[in-house]
Amino acid sequence: MCIDDKRTFFSQFSKIIELLDPCVDNFLYVKDLQNDYYYISPSATERFNMDKCEFGDVTENHRKFVHPADFDMLNEEMDQILSSGKTFHNLQYRWLDKNKKPVWINCRGRVTLDEEGNPEFMVGCINEIGKVQEADNISGLLREASLQQEIEKCGEERMSGFFMLIGIDNFKEINENCGIEYGDMILRRTAECIQAAIEPNQKLYRIVADEYAIMDFSGRTTNEARALYYRIRAEIDKFIEENGYEVFYTISAGILKMDDLEQQNYDSFVTRAEFALSEAKNRGKNRCYVYSQEDYEAFLVKRKRIQVLRKAVNRDFEGFEAYFQPIVDITNNKLTSAEALMRFSSEETGRLSPAEFIPLLEESGLIIPVGRWMLNKALEACSKVRKIIPDFRVAVNISYIQILKSDIVADIRANMKEYQLEPGSVVVELTESGYLDSEDYLNRFFERLKDDGILVALDDFGTGYSNFQYLYNISPDTIKIDRSFTIKALKNPADYKLLQHMVYLAHSIQLKLCVEGIETKEELDEIAKIEPDYIQGYYFGKPCSFDIFWDAHVASDKEETD
Ligand code: C2E
Ligand code: CA
Ligand code: CA
Repeated sequence: MCIDDKRTFFSQFSKIIELLDPCVDNFLYVKDLQNDYYYISPSATERFNMDKCEFGDVTENHRKFVHPADFDMLNEEMDQILSSGKTFHNLQYRWLDKNKKPVWINCRGRVTLDEEGNPEFMVGCINEIGKVQEADNISGLLREASLQQEIEKCGEERMSGFFMLIGIDNFKEINENCGIEYGDMILRRTAECIQAAIEPNQKLYRIVADEYAIMDFSGRTTNEARALYYRIRAEIDKFIEENGYEVFYTISAGILKMDDLEQQNYDSFVTRAEFALSEAKNRGKNRCYVYSQEDYEAFLVKRKRIQVLRKAVNRDFEGFEAYFQPIVDITNNKLTSAEALMRFSSEETGRLSPAEFIPLLEESGLIIPVGRWMLNKALEACSKVRKIIPDFRVAVNISYIQILKSDIVADIRANMKEYQLEPGSVVVELTESGYLDSEDYLNRFFERLKDDGILVALDDFGTGYSNFQYLYNISPDTIKIDRSFTIKALKNPADYKLLQHMVYLAHSIQLKLCVEGIETKEELDEIAKIEPDYIQGYYFGKPCSFDIFWDAHVASDKEETD
């Protein structure tokens, strides 16, 4: 090529790149290797840290948008192309975007040679490696990358309408039970069902495996979104029926109001939508949930608290404390046992009540290590008190999570051995509310407790769940009347009568009965008339640290006996 031809080639090629720019997802380029001149798709200037799409002095200009750590590697590659006859370039490295953040790219190019065999031009294409597929071949829908573009395009414009994220409930099971191909069919058919239910000006995307998104920019309300959700469900039910109930599945949806989300970027938008969908699933699946800022903030607080609890566990249970509350024999006002109650505080959260943090420990599984720690503190305390009060017992609250997911009997046994505690010195307090499932497993658990001489107290009796079947299955040694019921019994003659019958029933099957929540002498006198066995309440003592418990309840007992 003569010089003029070369110029023409370069400018014609640049022109083609410019024309193709809106039609392709990647960036095309041409580089004049002999005149050190470069042209790239103009849209690259919007994405990367470059201000012109056409420039000379290529190496120097590269400095602006090539990641500094990859700069030498790129130059080496260019040297090789110029000196060693390499005619194909294929390199993955990093460019810098407009915010100078690294973006992985794959640059491929062909090198053309002149009549003398010298490298003349390099033409090729750059694509972003991280960029997700824009369309999905299984459902035929647009994918998340397109959704992102759409949302970002709306940018500053005031958005009104809704966004709905739909998830197939338990999709993993469909895949596992029916195979991936069948799963793909379900994904495709679900997309068709959604498509059939939406309006022409609503757009459908497939986000991840089993999640779809609907965008509505036409100002429809969340109530209309809800109605749409039910229409989609009806379409899916129709499909399931037509399919001869070969597979049965449900969907959940999270709904966001667009106006709430002005000035949110794409990531926080998607995070909130994911939250709304998982909230719908957490609330029992097969339902839709409309995003509420209040719920989201509560969720963030909860997540933060779980992080704090986890950190505390990893720092040798820093911030956890075992408190003890006396349980008194009503016939002689003597201390018989103590209930161990957990406390937690941290700089970040302040003091949290057990009602706040126990469910978080359960949800996160942290109840297993913390419960074990608590058990150790409780049994250690028991062994100390038994030196003064030989038949003293300690009662420990145990969650069903601990029973189902750890070997709590082995833990109790090991601690009893460590502190040389005899059978009958440990009481496990359990509620009825978690008992429902896994009956066989639990029944074996109760047998093992009995074999080891570990006593059982049925906690929170009278709080609604009470079912005499459980009383029979669990066959506890004691039942504990919850404070909420004690209050009712003190106020209401019918409940008082009921409590009286409970005492009678308990005694008729050789159970002891403990009334919780007695705060005053008057309350004590009133309850004493129906002759329960034990009393636990602020009247005899609030939960307190072991040292205070010792001084207030054990040392005094010691003095009496001395
Ligand atoms: P719970 O097992 O029913 O414990 C009795 C609760 O009643 C304790 O609340 C105690 O402080 C409170 N209480 C006792 N007497 C009175 C009274 O006269 N007046 C009033 N107003 N309250 C009284 P706390 O310590 O806040 O514990 C709440 C719940 O947290 C416990 O209820 C138990 O279900 C759970 N919990 C506490 N520690 C543990 C633990 O180590 N493990 C597990 N799994 N749960 C625990
Ligand atoms: Ca309890
Ligand atoms: Ca209780």
